[in-house]
Amino acid sequence: MADSEVVLGLLNDGNYTLTEEMDNADIVLVNTCSVRENAEQRIYGRLGEFKAVKSKNPEVVVGVLGCMAERLREKLNTDEARGVGQIVDLIVGPDEYRKLPSLINNAWHGEKGVAVKLSRVETYDDIVPLRTSGISAWISIMRGCDKFCSFCVVPFTRGRERSRDYFNIIKEVEELGKRGFKEITLLGQNVNSYRYDKYDFADLMKTVSEVDESMRIRFTTSHPHDMSDKLIETIASKNNICKYIHLPIQSGSDRILDLMKREYTSSHYRNLINKIKASIPEVSLSTDIISGFPTETEEDHRMTLEILEETRFDGAFMFKYSPRENTPAWKMDDDVNDEIKSIRINEIVMLQNKISAERNQEMVGTVHKVLIEGESKKSSDDFHGRTEGNKIVIFPKENSIPGTYVDIKITRTNSATLFGHIYKNHKGVKS
Ligand code: SAH
Ligand code: SF4
Repeated sequence: MADSEVVLGLLNDGNYTLTEEMDNADIVLVNTCSVRENAEQRIYGRLGEFKAVKSKNPEVVVGVLGCMAERLREKLNTDEARGVGQIVDLIVGPDEYRKLPSLINNAWHGEKGVAVKLSRVETYDDIVPLRTSGISAWISIMRGCDKFCSFCVVPFTRGRERSRDYFNIIKEVEELGKRGFKEITLLGQNVNSYRYDKYDFADLMKTVSEVDESMRIRFTTSHPHDMSDKLIETIASKNNICKYIHLPIQSGSDRILDLMKREYTSSHYRNLINKIKASIPEVSLSTDIISGFPTETEEDHRMTLEILEETRFDGAFMFKYSPRENTPAWKMDDDVNDEIKSIRINEIVMLQNKISAERNQEMVGTVHKVLIEGESKKSSDDFHGRTEGNKIVIFPKENSIPGTYVDIKITRTNSATLFGHIYKNHKGVKS
């Protein structure tokens, strides 16, 4: 989403207007993810839809942006079997978005465009992303990744790690504050390795949180190997830094973590969690899990279940291992068959859903500060918003206004959502 906003910012030069309706579009761009095979399959599905648009109006320019463009440049250009080569006019990788206006111009004149060079310096520092929400904003503080976890395609599709100018990030936060934004999420594949001159990520979080105390500050993602005590103390010490940490563990087995090249052990992870819980008792935690990594045994799988039981994460993103071409793990035998992967992922999901439901249930009767994001999808009488711990809350609107904070008393929950009513509105009236 953050990258798409950068692209919209680059195209926001008076020549183009944004439409949500594909039938009205002269240019259709799709931003893509390569992290797992099914993300790519979804894009092939979308390209099928674009084919229909293009057969109605052959003038339409179709562009594939992002990681898939980087990874599959040749396939996208020539894949006659799926007809993809015929419908894609532009293939633009994550570091070449600046070329889009001229590539689009050339495409109008029938010239295909391919721009997939990775950069060591591009951070789009001077580009003002076009943000449509008005309440929450993403800011990429760094690009690329140098970690080279053995399963991961990101270092290949997004290139070397580089951090954005510290002072420009702060300026952007100040601008967003003036425009009324209430929530900022600082983004990077491994924010803990952010560095600009003498400033590290904890310095950046501290300064950003001091720009406007009515704005909530979030960040993602922290790599467990690089998370510093200084960062934990900074999160604990600032009221408007959300007490929510996403800390992907991937596996509970040290043997698998080693094969994954994650650079930490399960006991390092446990110590880190204990330190976080001791410094920030009200913290919400979430994680990522990969199930069925090459050579994973039933015993390794049990260790993952154990660490989930023990840590009691509020939530988790859980994936079956998906082999990615050219990564170090690609050369290992993908020897956990799909049936076993399915059984294991189901066990993981069921356990985590039970824990998430219990964690949510513990919140019944408590009051939480919620930033109102907009109308609930299910009922026009209700709003949805988020707690500091990043949980979605549904509640009757009463007289509240999106983009403001309300205190919500939680009355019931399930594993995914909290429900409640306004306990104190922004004018401080209790009910
Ligand atoms: N930089 C982040 C992760 C970004 S990718 C970090 O290191 O925490 C988001 C998640 O996708 C990862 O945490 C991992 O759980 C999952 N993932 C990445 N590559 C994968 C693969 N090949 N198969 C399955 N899941 C994968
Ligand atoms: Fe991929 Fe590892 Fe980098 Fe995360 S830290 S993006 S999992 S290589």
